[in-house]
Amino acid sequence: MTTNESALGEADWRRAIELIRSAGTLALACHVSPDADALGSMLGLGLALARTGKKVVASFGDRVFAVPRLLRFLPGQHLLVEPSAYPAEPELMVAFDASTMERLGLLAPHAGKAGELVVIDHHVSNTGFGTVHLVDPAAASTTMVVEELMNRLGLTIDREVATCLYAGLVTDTGSFRHSITTPAAHAMAGRLLATGLRPEEIARELWDRSPFAYLRVLGTALGRATLEPDAAGGLGLVWTYVSRADRAAEGLPYDEVEGMIDVVRRVDEAEVAVVLKEDDEAGWNVSTRSKGAVDMARACAALGGGGHPRAAGFSSALSVADTMAALRPLLAPEGSRS
Ligand code: AMP
Ligand code: MN
Ligand code: MN
Repeated sequence: MTTNESALGEADWRRAIELIRSAGTLALACHVSPDADALGSMLGLGLALARTGKKVVASFGDRVFAVPRLLRFLPGQHLLVEPSAYPAEPELMVAFDASTMERLGLLAPHAGKAGELVVIDHHVSNTGFGTVHLVDPAAASTTMVVEELMNRLGLTIDREVATCLYAGLVTDTGSFRHSITTPAAHAMAGRLLATGLRPEEIARELWDRSPFAYLRVLGTALGRATLEPDAAGGLGLVWTYVSRADRAAEGLPYDEVEGMIDVVRRVDEAEVAVVLKEDDEAGWNVSTRSKGAVDMARACAALGGGGHPRAAGFSSALSVADTMAALRPLLAPEGSRS
């Protein structure tokens, strides 16, 4: 059995392992509005550590604390506490899938006061905001870094832990379709499948179910999708939005529309796809995707967000029109920038 071979320094691994072994309580946190990689990497490591008798608390810093409906199947949810019950000054805090301290939301101040802060991530844009960094941009998911850490710690990856790790791996590789799908990603999937996890059940929970109201709201959003062939340096832009009112009309919670970009990004005529999603606090969360010619991480970083070259996002307090007006000039293809 091999493990992921990352390019991380041995000193970082040694330090992280030392800290985790010696800590009395581990305070885990993942990025706000958690996706399967954020929550899966945190709960996977949390579960495995809790089973060795470690005291573990886990959380994420959203103002309204709720696990998205489609991630409620992940094992280990009993480890979760509300941000208000989170240790104010943790002796050891571990951050998952967060490229900046701000991505920890309400838990960012806790991270600032932590005795030690281990940052586990795979964003190339990671700012190095911890005291120890296990950051591997070559890893397809944060759960790939977590698997190696668990192997180095000698932790057992049983079916439940594997379910958490697999959810992050399949999500961030787009079901092994994205360019980050390496031999190492498939090899890890093989190891996880060998624990007896049910890939068909995980896939159904993640992508193949929704309330009827989702079809109605999707219809509204797709009905007003706009194609701008001249945008993105002539490579094309397709975009749409889902307002809070759209969702209210059908009684659809915000987290159900998180993945709508996966329908919009398929358009042949557009290099860049954008979906603006209004949350319940009247702010817009913007999902952006490119096919490789436009660096979305760079564009979104310029607007206060971040992410990966082909998949990135940002938040906006502006109107839909003003948000798009701010984004359009940032969509120049690589090599055409002056
Ligand atoms: P999403 O469109 O929500 O699936 O996000 C795609 C990628 O962009 C993920 O890697 C996120 O971590 C990143 N991302 C999304 N929103 C933000 C944000 N407001 N700030 C930083 N990174 C973000
Ligand atoms: Mn994430
Ligand atoms: Mn990730």
